[in-house]
Amino acid sequence: MVAPDTVRNVIIIGSGPAGYTAGLYTARAMLEPLMFAGYMSGGQLMLTSDIENFPGYPQGIGGPDMMLQLREQAERFGLEVQDKNVESVDLSTRPFAVTVEGEVFHAHALIVCTGAESIWLGAEGEAEQKGRGISTCATCDGAFFRDEEVIVVGGGDSAMEEATFLTRFASKVTLIHRRDVFRASQVMYDRAAAHPKIEIRPFRQVERWLSDEKGLTGAVLSDPRTGETEEIACTGAFIAIGHKPITAFLDGQLKTDEEGYLLHSQHTMTSVEGVFAAGDVVDTRYRQAITAAGMGCQAAIDAERWLEAQHD
Ligand SMILES: Cc1cc2nc3c(=O)[nH]c(=O)nc-3n(C[C@H](O)[C@H](O)[C@H](O)COP(=O)(O)OP(=O)(O)OC[C@H]3O[C@@H](n4cnc5c(N)ncnc54)[C@H](O)[C@@H]3O)c2cc1C
Repeated sequence: MVAPDTVRNVIIIGSGPAGYTAGLYTARAMLEPLMFAGYMSGGQLMLTSDIENFPGYPQGIGGPDMMLQLREQAERFGLEVQDKNVESVDLSTRPFAVTVEGEVFHAHALIVCTGAESIWLGAEGEAEQKGRGISTCATCDGAFFRDEEVIVVGGGDSAMEEATFLTRFASKVTLIHRRDVFRASQVMYDRAAAHPKIEIRPFRQVERWLSDEKGLTGAVLSDPRTGETEEIACTGAFIAIGHKPITAFLDGQLKTDEEGYLLHSQHTMTSVEGVFAAGDVVDTRYRQAITAAGMGCQAAIDAERWLEAQHD
């Protein structure tokens, strides 16, 4: 039996734009939310220097600065944040149980905002250039590479889309893929292949990134069939080999699509009543800070209305 006075109205899991926005709204709705910020307090934007596409910052803002401001704003209205990782949840009974570093917390409603990790290549020299010369988001970072040569790594629709989008800025886009079979749809492939600024190079993979004190300068590519290597010059690189939603701690208790993204059943509610989800952990399409924040707002309003309805 759980002592009723220890049960929180809402626990928010994850502290990216979705989590902090859900925190702001639930705090302002007097729900006294508790947030577990997780292993990466502040989320993915802690990895990037300049955000130019979040409304309200005409001069742009550094990712970590923006996330600190979102946190400060939500805390001002009473969001309680613990910089700890959720190990597991039990959604089989209500109130829900959330285990954090061995301690169990209970809540009537949960909002899951754990995001999706970009899959990186892990090639030598990558860590140093992450969020600088090497990115996983052309929409976010493409505009930093005006009239420069960039490469895109990948063979699916995202890689084609990123390459085509980058032609707006870059003087040349080289798309490399380790095979000559592309997962991309024919129409997306044809559009990229027909673009005069895009060169598609099959049977190429990144062995190592090259850089100097100013940033990325190129990559050593190899042919996986022969092991032969060559150097390519580029000041930007976009890795488009997929994302992995962070849901392992849920242990299959919420329905997902085949790639593991959480599914909404009604508005932002998941397959378990009282559990809501927002941001990149459900978003296979937009994956932007502003869309994550927007969904965090929706999840907070849905949670608030659902909690209200429980008292009727
Ligand atoms: C390098 C880079 C640059 C980008 N630039 C831009 C940009 O310029 N503009 C833009 O709009 N978007 C940009 N994006 C995309 C943007 O960062 C994401 O769309 C956004 O952060 C998604 O927000 P989110 O709240 O869904 O999740 P995230 O920001 O991914 O946050 C997930 C949170 O969940 C937490 N978490 C995970 N597991 C657990 C757990 N078990 N327990 C507790 N917490 C947990 C993590 O600690 C983290 O706080 C960029 C992304 C990257 C990687």
